[in-house]
Amino acid sequence: MPETRKMICCKCNKELEMIKTDFSYLGHSFFTEVPKCPECGQVFIPEELARGRISEVEMQMEDK
Ligand SMILES: [Zn+2]
Repeated sequence: MPETRKMICCKCNKELEMIKTDFSYLGHSFFTEVPKCPECGQVFIPEELARGRISEVEMQMEDK
């Protein structure tokens, strides 16, 4: 069974749409494709993004 990338908003129970957007996280902005809920507009940060760029940002912040 192929791995499904579908994500569901836990609040609205709606399927998230992949949209290119810029969003900010911890004061840094990213322009990337992220899953977003069409209902409430909540943006979900993918795990690989959180482990990649964003964890770098977090490490930089912890460093100071
Ligand atoms: Zn939602």
